[in-house]
Amino acid sequence: MSEDLGCQVCLTHSGKPYQPRFVLATSPSDLLYRCDFCRTWWIGTQRYQNPVSSDAARAAFPEARLDG
Ligand SMILES: [Zn+2]
Repeated sequence: MSEDLGCQVCLTHSGKPYQPRFVLATSPSDLLYRCDFCRTWWIGTQRYQNPVSSDAARAAFPEARLDG
């Protein structure tokens, strides 16, 4: 089983392994990342584990004051 690195949305649609950047963590198991290229938010304990909508990211990380 290979480990896919990078944003799966970008990999799927453009073949480019853009790396979501770390935004913040509210606990050791609640980490937030964002791909600036396709504007996908990612949450979870590992990078690129769980893509979520901006509404879901806002709800999960209200302290981040997300604008996108
Ligand atoms: Zn992306």
